[in-house]
Amino acid sequence: MTAFDDLMTHARETQALAQVAGRLGWDQETVMPRGAAPQRAEEMAALEAVLHARRTDPRVAEWLAEARAPDAAGQAQLRLIRRQHERAVKVPARLAAELARVTSRAQGVWAEARRSEDPGAFVPVLAEVVALRREEGAALAAGGDLYDALLQDYEPGTTAAEIEAMFGALRPRLTELRGAVLERPAPEPLKGHFDQAAQYALARELAQAFGYDLSRGRIDTAVHPFSAGSGLDVRITTRTDPADPFNCLYSTIHEVGHATYEQNIDAAYLLTPVGQGASMGVHESQSRLYENQLGRSRAFTGWLFGRMRDVFGDIGIADEDAFHAVVNRVHRGFIRTESDELQYNLHILMRFDLERALVAGDLTVSDLEAAWNDRFAADFGYAPKRPSDGFLQDVHWSVGLFGYFPTYTLGNLYAGCLHAAMRRDLPDLDAALAQGDPSPATGWLREKLQRHGGLMEPRDLIEAATGEAPSEIPLLAYLEDKFGQLYRL
Ligand code: ZN
Repeated sequence: MTAFDDLMTHARETQALAQVAGRLGWDQETVMPRGAAPQRAEEMAALEAVLHARRTDPRVAEWLAEARAPDAAGQAQLRLIRRQHERAVKVPARLAAELARVTSRAQGVWAEARRSEDPGAFVPVLAEVVALRREEGAALAAGGDLYDALLQDYEPGTTAAEIEAMFGALRPRLTELRGAVLERPAPEPLKGHFDQAAQYALARELAQAFGYDLSRGRIDTAVHPFSAGSGLDVRITTRTDPADPFNCLYSTIHEVGHATYEQNIDAAYLLTPVGQGASMGVHESQSRLYENQLGRSRAFTGWLFGRMRDVFGDIGIADEDAFHAVVNRVHRGFIRTESDELQYNLHILMRFDLERALVAGDLTVSDLEAAWNDRFAADFGYAPKRPSDGFLQDVHWSVGLFGYFPTYTLGNLYAGCLHAAMRRDLPDLDAALAQGDPSPATGWLREKLQRHGGLMEPRDLIEAATGEAPSEIPLLAYLEDKFGQLYRL
């Protein structure tokens, strides 16, 4: 056995245990009996301790020093193992434990503060979370930028300055487009009662059409839809609302984007570091492209309109064009998760700027609510009237996820780049989408991007797939064209 073989054997076992930990998380959100929660917390903590010990095992550093990779994939494995090991050893055990303890408490405090519209109850514990994450950032950054250090957990190889350059170019054109669209008459939302079992059956049909392999996956219901797992066991969840079938159908297509990415990674990388998606941003690019550029396209919604009438009867919409407009309806609101394709990124851009200022120490948690409301008014034209519509709306900061928000918009930017390249390669794509068949597009993504898993860094992967470095330009062109046509600008 060479050092490389020893290292890979160790990494495979670690990966297998991490998959088990992930499946416990899936179980907790889907089928776990409510009374099991205290025991589950101990089970997960015990498994997490095993994983931490394996990742900080001193033998890993010794193997890394000696290991010679046999090929490019082996080099990528070494790069990912080294990154994970260095991250794990840099953070003192005391700090990791303190972060776990405080964020677990903060999440409960946040939920109660949001319910009772009491920001003052949340501010002190959020200040503790920010302080701990700054301490962690300092341990990881070794003199460098704290936010960049935190970002590496979600979008490795990317800096806040690179993100800022793209986000800064997006903001003025998105606020302008949004303003122009909202001055035009908007379609009415869908109305009626839609049988939930029929929604679920149609969601399954869509999942398979988009390439989800149910022999290596399954669909369950959960309060918040998500995708979990990798390799031969990748599961998704969805939810049904009798008044809003789009919620079920489009969140299913979104999660299928995440799940098929994992399912389509080259089987040779199974249970290794390379056998996972490249980053949160690349993951989100797949889910957004499936959901928006494909699922909300004129061609595909034309087919979906007919299918929904087959399933639900008359849905109160006259024709395919009207249906396409309803699916892409832009409306005023405060909540990120209820936002449309056009306004969504404005929500993320403000969170990125605010959390960067918090981590840099340029903004205090006591001033966060005022800063949020000012920025929201500047970009959206009106300010939230209650904290649950404002800075208390998202769970992310309470659990310490600083550096995570920008990956949502990076995903949209990458999706814009991939979609433009895909359309160049597949001039007849709309003809297939109009038959309810996205397989030319999903096949293109599998070949160009998905099968590689973590072989390349995110930006290199997008460039390899599209022939160009990632930029905001294709996404802006797509949004301006699509909403310009829909709202006759
Ligand atoms: Zn997603």
